[in-house]
Amino acid sequence: METYKGVPGMSSKVILHMDMNAFFASVEQQSNPALRGKPVIVCGRGRTVVTTASYEARRYGVKTGMSLYEAKKCCPRIIPVEGNHVKYADTAKMIHEICLEYTCFVEVFSIDEVFMDISQVCESFDCGRIIAKRIQKRVKKEIGISSSVGVAPGKLLAKLASGRDKPSGLVVFNPHDIEEILSQTPVEDICGIGERTRAKLNNMGIETLKELGSADTQLLIKSFGFMGNILKKMGKGEEPGDVSPYCWKEPLKSIGHSNTFPRDTFNIDVVKSFLSLLSEKVAGRLRSCGRLAGKLSLYIRFSDFSGRSRQKTLSPAVKTGRDIFMHACRILKSFMPFKKAVRHIGVCVSSLIPDRAQGFLFEKEKRKEKLAEAMDKINKRYGDFMIRPLAVDIARDFTGPDIEIPAKVHGFPAGFRNAGK
Ligand SMILES: [Mg+2]
Repeated sequence: METYKGVPGMSSKVILHMDMNAFFASVEQQSNPALRGKPVIVCGRGRTVVTTASYEARRYGVKTGMSLYEAKKCCPRIIPVEGNHVKYADTAKMIHEICLEYTCFVEVFSIDEVFMDISQVCESFDCGRIIAKRIQKRVKKEIGISSSVGVAPGKLLAKLASGRDKPSGLVVFNPHDIEEILSQTPVEDICGIGERTRAKLNNMGIETLKELGSADTQLLIKSFGFMGNILKKMGKGEEPGDVSPYCWKEPLKSIGHSNTFPRDTFNIDVVKSFLSLLSEKVAGRLRSCGRLAGKLSLYIRFSDFSGRSRQKTLSPAVKTGRDIFMHACRILKSFMPFKKAVRHIGVCVSSLIPDRAQGFLFEKEKRKEKLAEAMDKINKRYGDFMIRPLAVDIARDFTGPDIEIPAKVHGFPAGFRNAGK
């Protein structure tokens, strides 16, 4: 490990931690202007608890984990909004895209938190502050979500820094100040030290991180087992592992894909052509994991960044791109005519069930399925879009020849073109 100039043993890495503020509630407020500035809670259906409270709601004492009844008692004019995971995952991915412009080392810590290793683009921590400010501003301006950001020589300290000035702060822990910070920070402030560990450490006379870092290792191991070593490292502000390169794992509960248009559009053919590509992409992944989809969501974001989503239960459950596309078109129809130009569209399937019903499919369904599988095979062997629907060409005309259409396309019995020409 390199040493930071003048600070022996200190990593030279510049690590950024970004934590979106009241993420689910902020996404809801961003996509529906009527909710902005209001006390909003995101929750489930029926008897439910608060998943996230907007900062306006928090002022009334509304907290995560409260029942809807308790939240209403704190703030009678609270606005409950049913959570929409597709929308949140979609927004998170847009934020990741901004982060990835600075480094490929973007580690998704949770849906609303990322670590970034910006050492490659920063010569100093002053430079780190400038880049962090830029990223924070862009996420606010382009996605409409505010965040708290911390910059420090390591992940643990960067996370500590981002929590120091919530909401919307930017805190930089310069390597030269780390020792003082460790001596002033109570052990429970660090991520990973919960109430029980804190109580145990306090009983041992350990209250600050500095005291933890200089505690007797054997004593820590005796009290905490193998965690003793890790705790000691935490006390020194060190953590196991570097920032990992970007890897977005879709939750197994749903499969979704979305697309931001190169320019906003009212053209329904263009919207539908992209919708078909997204449907095919979703279907390909559904098949590869052997699932059928029982629910479909369509999410549209308009030119003013407002967004809406609608869901549809699919009975029987589906797995071909054509079926997903047809259902998505029905939902799309309910958004029309568009009052504003369309900026972004997303398709997501959920209520996934194992595809065990093949033997019971009707002949027509079987044929469609065989066709889709055959096309999967051809595209796999000869490259994406060897066989493709007309939609790809419409999308290509709209986007230009350089379009990188991310989907494998299949399942369209009509309108095929041979892409080999
Ligand atoms: Mg957060």
